[in-house]
Amino acid sequence: MRFDLHTHTTASDGLLTPAALVEAAHAAGIELLAITDHDAIDAYAALPPLPPGLHVIGGIELSTAYNGGGVHVVGLNLALGSDALMQALASQRQARSARAERIAERLHKRGIVDALAGAARHAGDAAIGRPHFAAYLVEIGACVDAEAAFRKYLARDLAPASAWPSLATIIEWIRAAGGVAVLAHPGKYGLTRKRLDELTAAFRAAGGAALEVVSGLQRPDVTRDLAALAERHGLALSAGSDFHQPGQAWAALGRLAPLPPSGRRVWELWQ
Ligand code: AMP
Ligand code: MN
Ligand code: MN
Ligand code: MN
Repeated sequence: MRFDLHTHTTASDGLLTPAALVEAAHAAGIELLAITDHDAIDAYAALPPLPPGLHVIGGIELSTAYNGGGVHVVGLNLALGSDALMQALASQRQARSARAERIAERLHKRGIVDALAGAARHAGDAAIGRPHFAAYLVEIGACVDAEAAFRKYLARDLAPASAWPSLATIIEWIRAAGGVAVLAHPGKYGLTRKRLDELTAAFRAAGGAALEVVSGLQRPDVTRDLAALAERHGLALSAGSDFHQPGQAWAALGRLAPLPPSGRRVWELWQ
């Protein structure tokens, strides 16, 4: 089965509309898709009739704070209309908007004016995220590309992880909405093996159910290490591209390194 359980649209910081994402997923031969926008599910209200053979499950990527750093938890197979989720989303949206104001203030102190309005323009209907600030910084010529904008302005304390709720709170929200919590892209937090093991244990203890052992194209040894980590902690295996836009070979829709042959697949938790 071809699947992709981690993708973004214009409802957060992706470049494709929900309709365009569905079309691209169908063209890529994907049969099981989760749209996992940052702290938002608005894409689901804008989905066209699905092409035959494509199944879409309710998904989200929630921002959380762990030990002062930002950690992402993907929620899969969510009941999108649930009250629990609506309340969670209102609270995340509030946190994101307060954080955007703080980021704009800090940028102002560094000589970047009108950043809030600029980022809001790039965000459109979506809640403002750091990539929208990056797009503004590139637009005004302060940085050559988003990567440089993150390096110079957005990577560290401009986006304090204190804006986000705890791992336990986030996982509780996902479970209350009938979903399965997946620790997203575990290799991207810059943690040592020991620290990643501790995060995984904390995630499991808080009710997490799966580990994203494949994030886009990655080396086989990375997959092996993460699968071993999942097994040690009794977590199922998930995989997704973290697709944001066409043209990025390492995160193309449905183009994933293979899952290891053994280990429980995350979809077995709801099938
Ligand atoms: P936020 O949700 O506002 O904290 O923004 C996080 C998002 O920024 C991630 O999901 C990525 O899409 C993007 N991002 C993170 N780091 C970088 C980077 N170094 N260069 C470009 N985009 C990045
Ligand atoms: Mn993103
Ligand atoms: Mn993420
Ligand atoms: Mn993502």
